[in-house]
Amino acid sequence: MAYSLWNDQIVEEGSITISPEDRGYQFGDGIYEVIKVYNGHMFTAQEHIDRFYASAEKIRLVIPYTKDVLHKLLHDLIEKNNLKTGHVYFQITRGATSRNHIFPDASVPAILTGNVKTGERSIENFEKGVKATLVEDVRWLRCDIKSLNLLGAVLAKQEASEKGCYEAILHRGDIITECSSANVYGIKDGKLYTHPANNYILNGITRQVILKCAAEINLPVIEEPMTKGDLLAMDEIIVSSVSSEVTPVIDVDGQQIGAGVPGEWTRKLQKAFEAKLPISINA
Ligand SMILES: *Cc1c(COP(=O)(O)O)cnc(C)c1O
Repeated sequence: MAYSLWNDQIVEEGSITISPEDRGYQFGDGIYEVIKVYNGHMFTAQEHIDRFYASAEKIRLVIPYTKDVLHKLLHDLIEKNNLKTGHVYFQITRGATSRNHIFPDASVPAILTGNVKTGERSIENFEKGVKATLVEDVRWLRCDIKSLNLLGAVLAKQEASEKGCYEAILHRGDIITECSSANVYGIKDGKLYTHPANNYILNGITRQVILKCAAEINLPVIEEPMTKGDLLAMDEIIVSSVSSEVTPVIDVDGQQIGAGVPGEWTRKLQKAFEAKLPISINA
């Protein structure tokens, strides 16, 4: 039996009905988060919950629960589903009312839902690396919000998939921003480059952990945008997200990156990252 989050209740998955007038369904008017679960423990839960509230504030959506209540609900959801390794997904929409772009009045309750998914870590990708393709970034200008509107990301990822690639690396004109659902980094001559955390990218929680790892291994970080040419000339490229962790990119549109295998700095970052996870490496 699978259980889902339905507002502040844990209920049987099949018992939930979403109205066709839900604003998430009609407008993508809501926000979401994904938290990785290792051995039954959420990783960086507080950071994700804080970002969830920050995204909500940016779209003027009031979450009718405290952060502590939400944390407890997610914990209970994981326990009830007996999830060991995988992730918990949750979203909130601005409620269900007769269709109208203008916000509903304050009496219309927001709708919170969530569920878990089992999935092992992608060790093979971490060790062998993946291919990526460059795709024009046609998303809106508030990519700092983890919005339910994901058409730009969906189209980019589909294109990547059809080209046999793991990710789409997005660029606005000549400037590399991020990926469809991950952040991107280049390493060149012992320095790590990544786009600054502004409205053009989603500031990944994994990104924030990686920047800490870089400091630990004395890898200087330069938060400045790369051009397409800069990216292709990097010694190493990495993409990161909750599920990708530190994934090396060894090929972009058929062009080999570095030696075509995960590089030394990438390995060091992976090690530093793994040391922070609630797992024992040999377990
Ligand atoms: C969620 C997301 C990321 C990665 O964020 P994490 O918190 O590390 O999972 C990066 N880019 C986009 C567009 C995202 O939606």
